[in-house]
Amino acid sequence: MSRVYNFSAGPSMLPEEVLKTAAAEMLEYGTSGQSVMEMSHRSKEYQAIIDEAEADLREIMNIPDNYTVLFLQGGASTQFAMVPMNLMNKNKKADFVVTGQWAKKAYKEAARYGNARVIASSEDKTFSYIPKITPDMIDPEADYVHICMNNTIYGTKWQNLPETGDVPLVADISSCILSEPIDVSKFGILYAGAQKNVAPAGLTIVIIRNDLIGNAMDITPTMLNYQTHSENGSMFNTPPCYTIYIAGLVFKWIKKIGGLDYMRKINSEKAAILYDFLDNSKMFKGTVVPEDRSLMNVPFITGNEELDAKFVKESKAAGFVNLKGHRSVGGMRASIYNAMPVDGVKKLVEFMKKFEEENA
Ligand SMILES: *Cc1c(COP(=O)(O)O)cnc(C)c1O
Repeated sequence: MSRVYNFSAGPSMLPEEVLKTAAAEMLEYGTSGQSVMEMSHRSKEYQAIIDEAEADLREIMNIPDNYTVLFLQGGASTQFAMVPMNLMNKNKKADFVVTGQWAKKAYKEAARYGNARVIASSEDKTFSYIPKITPDMIDPEADYVHICMNNTIYGTKWQNLPETGDVPLVADISSCILSEPIDVSKFGILYAGAQKNVAPAGLTIVIIRNDLIGNAMDITPTMLNYQTHSENGSMFNTPPCYTIYIAGLVFKWIKKIGGLDYMRKINSEKAAILYDFLDNSKMFKGTVVPEDRSLMNVPFITGNEELDAKFVKESKAAGFVNLKGHRSVGGMRASIYNAMPVDGVKKLVEFMKKFEEENA
């Protein structure tokens, strides 16, 4: 067996320790006589798995008691509709900061249900920065303000949150969840697809302030109403059982290695190795303004499409896979989520140095 360094933006690497535990428990979980895949979600064994996953997530993210944690399906993309259906029901208005394709999709979907307004965008410079937001830009009557915390495709991250006053701040944290500590109390809703930093695809984590539950529009399908899931402990219907189990193993792994403070330290170290190289390379350069750089997704280019393609091809042959940039932007992108070891980034940089020498 030879495992590659996988720089995919998602689904992405999982900690090897988690995969080994899952493998060891594949045929029989505990003394249950069955795999978690085969278990009834109504069983005592499974209830313990989901309860523990929630408790561990609450502990590592320090989630206040007045927030509900939901384990849902449909990906982050379903939240683009679910958020407005549940929140855009007071003044039928919401404000959006468009910092990339995901943020734009959230805006477009919300516009189907009410008055969605773009208050700032960084599209003028291919989303290579985060626009500055001042409090006067926000409509105090808006039902919420939406941001995409880490822009997976473009490699930017909000370093400072916009001041939204009493207007709930909603953030898509799909590609930065659990990468560093986050003050949950600053948000109305946080949501994330699990396949970047948490688990295999199929699970969406929603963390919602309790007063925002129960105000859904009448047209809201039962399955898209937060209340349906909060009243049923994420078990109104069959949840993505096995993915929640893997998420639970990842939460335990994070707890064991030192929580989100440690995660931030390691992720900063990894990102610094790559950014320092990019800043000093004559061939490669990063595409994002330094102050808004993401810790998780690092896009870079050579400025020559043929050379980019050669790099992607040769890096793949050397065991560094999925370095091709998003189809909409080209170039390269290294996604260095929690499960990417420091060694993977060091070896990638060594490979880039060698490629630069050989192709100078
Ligand atoms: C991947 C991603 C999405 C899409 O997630 P799905 O779970 O595939 O719907 C949305 N937002 C961000 C920031 C992402 O990185």
